[in-house]
Amino acid sequence: MSELIIEHLAKAYGDTRVVKDINLHVEEGELVALLGPSGCGKSTTLRMIAGFVKPTEGRILLGGEDISRLPPYRRDTGMVFQSYALFPHMSVAANVGFGLEMRKIGRAERDERIRQALSMVRLDHLAERMPRQLSGGQQQRVALARALAINPKMLLLDEPLSNLDAKLRGEVQHEIRNLQQRLGLTTLMVTHDQDEALTMADRLAMMEGGVVRQIGTPQEIYDTPDDVYVAGFIGRCNLIAGRQKAPGLFVSEGGSELPCDPASDAGAREVTFALRPEKITLVPVASAPGPGDDATRQRARITGMAYLGAQTEFELDLAGTALVAVMPTPSRNTPLSALRPGAEVFATWQAQDARLLAERP
Ligand code: ADP
Repeated sequence: MSELIIEHLAKAYGDTRVVKDINLHVEEGELVALLGPSGCGKSTTLRMIAGFVKPTEGRILLGGEDISRLPPYRRDTGMVFQSYALFPHMSVAANVGFGLEMRKIGRAERDERIRQALSMVRLDHLAERMPRQLSGGQQQRVALARALAINPKMLLLDEPLSNLDAKLRGEVQHEIRNLQQRLGLTTLMVTHDQDEALTMADRLAMMEGGVVRQIGTPQEIYDTPDDVYVAGFIGRCNLIAGRQKAPGLFVSEGGSELPCDPASDAGAREVTFALRPEKITLVPVASAPGPGDDATRQRARITGMAYLGAQTEFELDLAGTALVAVMPTPSRNTPLSALRPGAEVFATWQAQDARLLAERP
């Protein structure tokens, strides 16, 4: 068993509490990403699990054992750092074997485990190279092999991809995720990059100011953010201040009435209406059919437009309220190609995609 349970974990430096009462459960074989802006306490949390930082309060259980007071080398955690942290004077094989030597594993077994770990990251042929003779991507794979060689109960990844260029990042992302799933490794990853977290993680823990604001699958966090902070951090979101007029109907401060999910009663008088730009569909008024049963459509005017290749972004004025919509770029000479600045349009969305959140932006 190698599930991780964190209970009431906190860290203070002097009077400053940089991590406050974190509770988190990473199931066996699961990859959870700690996501949040710089300075929110992600690395400190990871370092407390690895044993490099001593918690002020709380407990860390790995596979049922309380590891909170153990030194790092007795925790069975393999860590990969943003900076790779390879020993420059040691060969690739010696770097990968370092943790095994520390644990007094005999020569024959050590060599075999080095070979296996390097083969997992497809670097068997570079065992005798020195780190300076490797590319950034290769160095990061050596760091990963070093973490895997000790057969850790858990893998800890601290911004593992942020030193790599965009193309390599995608490759190493896939490689780490495949390996993690193949080996069924319980993994906690720290990142400030939402795309990385959305593509790699089974679940995300959204952090802010030393606390976890929301935990869920990427889709849960994206589709049903609990608060304005989470909605604004992940992807783009129209956030409009106003109040709930009736179940399923929001009225903005400017007086626009907008349909919303009747089930998302924020329970507060002053609320924020949250709607992802890609959930809005636009049809030019001139080519729109009669309303039929589509009572939710709203009349708006296009005030601006940005061509993004596959998609186009439209700025809208909906009875005094500004909204952004993103649609697949229309083909030329189709009715939708009339979507231009100045055009009068109908904007529609599914009521369930517009949620009311309790606080203000
Ligand atoms: P993140 O990984 O989310 O960027 P960190 O966990 O590195 O955030 O840091 C959280 C906060 O704790 C920051 O404000 C940082 O300045 C502070 N901090 C980190 N380490 C120390 C330390 N050794 N002494 C004092 N403050 C620290």
